[in-house]
Amino acid sequence: VESLTVGELASKLHKEPSELIKKLMFLGVMATINQELDKDSIELIATDYGVEVEEEIVIDETEFENYADEDKEEDLKERPPVVTIMGHVDHGKTTLLDSIRKTKVTEGEAGGITQHIGAYQVETSGKKITFLDTPGHAAFTTMRARGAQVTDITILVVAADDGVMPQTKEAISHAKAAGVPIIVAVNKIDKEAANPDRVMQELTEFELVPEAWGGETIFVNVSALAGTGIDELLEMILLVAEVAELKANPDKLARGSVIEAELDKGRGAVATLLVQSGTLKVGDPIVVGSSFGKVRAMVNDLGRRVKEVGPSTPVEITGLNEVPLAGDQFQAFPDEKKARQIGEVRMSRQREANLAASSRVSLDDLFNQI
Ligand code: GDP
Ligand code: MG
Repeated sequence: VESLTVGELASKLHKEPSELIKKLMFLGVMATINQELDKDSIELIATDYGVEVEEEIVIDETEFENYADEDKEEDLKERPPVVTIMGHVDHGKTTLLDSIRKTKVTEGEAGGITQHIGAYQVETSGKKITFLDTPGHAAFTTMRARGAQVTDITILVVAADDGVMPQTKEAISHAKAAGVPIIVAVNKIDKEAANPDRVMQELTEFELVPEAWGGETIFVNVSALAGTGIDELLEMILLVAEVAELKANPDKLARGSVIEAELDKGRGAVATLLVQSGTLKVGDPIVVGSSFGKVRAMVNDLGRRVKEVGPSTPVEITGLNEVPLAGDQFQAFPDEKKARQIGEVRMSRQREANLAASSRVSLDDLFNQI
C-alpha cells in the first residue's frame, strides 16, 4: 500500500470514515475523508484494528467475501430452483433431461438451437426451472468438495423395472448430506416389467415415504422415453421450490459457481457459470476461482448472446485468463484492478497447492458417469 484516502482505508477496514477521523484526531492528526494517508499512518490505524498491512492483498481478499453481504429482506426476489438429476446408471437420467428439454424449451423458444453448456432452463406455468445436466454425482461430490452448494432440489430417478440399486442409495445419501429435498421420478413406467409400487416400498427403507402412505416424499411416475408424466414432474418441482421460498438479491454484483469449464481453441477459456445472486453483465471484471478477467461475451443455453443474467441462470462466458474448475466460486467486482489483484494472489496460491498435491482425482472419471 502506497497511499490511501481516509475514506478508502475506512472501506477496506469496513469501518465508518468518521470513526477513523476520530482515531486520527486522537493520534494528533486532523483529517478529512478525502485526505491521503501515508504508509505509516495506514499501518498505525490498521494495526490498531488488528489488520496486517504488509500485503495489500490480505485486506483486498477479504472483500471477496464481503461482497456476499447479507441482503435485506426487501431486496430478495424469488428465483428459479436449481435442479440436479441423480440415480443409478441406465435408469434414465440422460433421457429424462433430454425429454424435459425437448418438451419445454422448444415450446416458448421456437427455432432456438439448443446448445450444451452444462445446464439449461425451462419454463412451465410461467415459471423457470434450471436443470444442471452435469452428472448429479459430480455436481454433488466435486462441486461440494470445492465448497459450492448449487442444487436446490434433487430428482432421484429410479427405473420401475429395476428398483433401488447401489447408485440410488449413494444418490440418496449425497442429497441427504447436502440437505437437499428429493423428488422421486419412477421412470420407465411404459415397460411391461414396471413395478412402481415396489420402488415405493423399497424407498421407504430410506425414509422416502410417499404422501399416499402418510409420508412427505413426492413420487411421480414418468416415462422419460415416451414423455409421460413430465409436466407433472415439473409442477412438483415448482411446488417444492415454492415451499423452500428460494430467493436472491438480483441488484448487486454477481456471485455464483462454475458448472463446467474448458479450453476452446478459438475462444480461449470458456466457463459455464451459474449466477446464484446478483446480476452478471458483459464487461464485468470477474474472479473465477484462481482465474480472472472481464466478461467478454455471454451465451445462454439456447446459444443466444445475452448482455446480463440474474440469479439461478446458467450462462457461458469467455474472457478469463485461465480455465477454472467445476465448483469454483466466482465474484464480479466493480473494477478490473481489484479483480486482477485477487486473481493473481489466488493463482499463485493455486500453483503452490498444485505442486503440493501429489495425486489428483480425475474429473473426467466423474463426468463420464452421465
Ligand atoms: P442414464 O445412465 O441414467 O443416463 O440412463 P439413460 O438415459 O442413458 O437410459 C438408459 C437406457 O434406458 C436407454 O437405452 C434409454 O433409452 C432407456 N430409457 C430411459 N428412459 C426410459 C423410459 O422411460 N422407458 C424405456 N422403455 N426406456 C427408457
Ligand atoms: Mg446418462
